[in-house]
Amino acid sequence: MTQRTRDGTSTPVYRSLYRNEYMKLNKRTTRLLSIECAQCGSCCGEPMIELTHHDLHRLVDNVNLPAEKLVKLYDNSELNPGEDNDWIYLSYGRRKMGLRKKRNGECIFLSERRQCAAYEARPIACRSFPVDVMLDENNKFIDLELSDIIKTKFIRCKHTHGKPRSFNKFRQIARQAQSETVSYWETLKRWNGLQDKGAKSDFLKFLKL
Ligand code: SF4
Ligand code: SF4
Repeated sequence: MTQRTRDGTSTPVYRSLYRNEYMKLNKRTTRLLSIECAQCGSCCGEPMIELTHHDLHRLVDNVNLPAEKLVKLYDNSELNPGEDNDWIYLSYGRRKMGLRKKRNGECIFLSERRQCAAYEARPIACRSFPVDVMLDENNKFIDLELSDIIKTKFIRCKHTHGKPRSFNKFRQIARQAQSETVSYWETLKRWNGLQDKGAKSDFLKFLKL
């Protein structure tokens, strides 16, 4: 998603190149790390900006809005085909949790100036976009990839290239995303195992929101 400030601050990626885990970084991955977001906002309206309860807690604490106003539960017809382990089973069918959108399909936080009004608390899915970091089950770096929705031209990303950003920063985001996603799936498993599942407000209460 849109990155609103340039995060070109940290460790030059080159320094990392000679450490074990980072030996895999090559020209291609260094180029991915050098992507600079042009803040066009095109990616801030993709079919669904995924949320976990960790994202939601951060947003609620930061933007002064209740979870009910931030969340939309999307049904199958509104989504791209994807993984099946994050369905929420409710009294009226199954849904996935994402950020609400405006009528024009853009994220509720995308301002008229194409800036993220929730930048500090933006969902983890927005933080390394448009670069995906792949880790193995032991959290070791596998590879960097340009996000699929850019590769398939589903979104026309107008990024440019500048100074490479910190690989460590990307890896940190990926690790956080991995651990928060697993924790969300475990929470969903508990909810989905309940006899009486209820509706959206019950689900949010279950998430302590
Ligand atoms: S939260 Fe911010 S960065 Fe993420 S989709 Fe919305 S406007 Fe874009
Ligand atoms: S589509 Fe690309 S350039 Fe536009 S806001 Fe998203 S990441 Fe930035």
